[in-house]
Amino acid sequence: MAELLEVDRLRVRFRALTPLAARLAGVRDPMIDAVADVSLSIPEGGAFGLVGESGSGKTTLGRAIMGLAPVWSGAIHLGGAALPKHGTALKTWRRHVAMTFQDPTGSLSPRLTVRALLTEPFRIHGMASRNLDAEARRLISLVGLATDFLDRYPHELSGGQARRVGIARALALEPRLLIADEPTAGLDVSVQGEVLNLLARLRGELGIALLLITHNLAAVRLSAEQLGVMYMGRLVETGTTAAVFRGAAHPYTAALLAAIPIADPTRDRERAVAGEVPSLMNRPAGCEFHTRCPRAEARCRAETPEPREIAPGHTARCHFPLSR
Ligand code: SF4
Repeated sequence: MAELLEVDRLRVRFRALTPLAARLAGVRDPMIDAVADVSLSIPEGGAFGLVGESGSGKTTLGRAIMGLAPVWSGAIHLGGAALPKHGTALKTWRRHVAMTFQDPTGSLSPRLTVRALLTEPFRIHGMASRNLDAEARRLISLVGLATDFLDRYPHELSGGQARRVGIARALALEPRLLIADEPTAGLDVSVQGEVLNLLARLRGELGIALLLITHNLAAVRLSAEQLGVMYMGRLVETGTTAAVFRGAAHPYTAALLAAIPIADPTRDRERAVAGEVPSLMNRPAGCEFHTRCPRAEARCRAETPEPREIAPGHTARCHFPLSR
């Protein structure tokens, strides 16, 4: 299958401190790499699950693909075309790549009805001459809500309904890639399942590709063929979801997997791994996971592991990958 999205050695850098704050704190480099050397690809119609704890860089990576975060180096291509830096070309890019945000109610303007929210993308992109009422009806039924929801305001929606409206709005301009940022967070287990089923149905019906950003590994298992695990802005393990669930190679992935409760597989687990994530301003030497890794040895503290192939298509950044 042809690749739709290709991310190649992407680095996203932010200034974490003002020059004065950096001087006062004695920090020489006030920049942080929120995304460091990340490469991944998603085929047309494929799904990639990106997992990791809060602050691992997942959302920043999603925002970079939308052209909303500063790309320091590396490249992002969609259908062979490079991410434009600005202007009309970037606006066109955002017709092809859409994103739903973590807080669905907060990301929907409270003063707009669902009808106005769903038709706003057409106005923004100079397509207001379309039959907007028909488009609103098409979109609301696409996500399984009745047309009388079009006259409601965001505060009149439940968490699951707001999530559906956010997805409908993201799909308004018929994107080729949907980036769903934590689509199940904060929802009851049964509603989480409904949202994941909706995303699966939409992928099948529309042929869109999906980048699923979540700390819920069980959601990835249900929804994505490929999996990437992020830690401190790096992908530490990638592979097919089936292969990673069969035998995680990186101790971080193994710890995340071990934390999925068997009796309640869709339950969110945030603090799955013991210990604190180090500051991005003070990355540990060697393997950045060594401060939390139960398998760390002297080599881990001295030498940065490069991605190594565990099996075809399955890689891990670890000197001592777990045996399969
Ligand atoms: Fe753990 Fe060492 Fe592998 Fe890092 S390189 S994950 S510290 S075993």
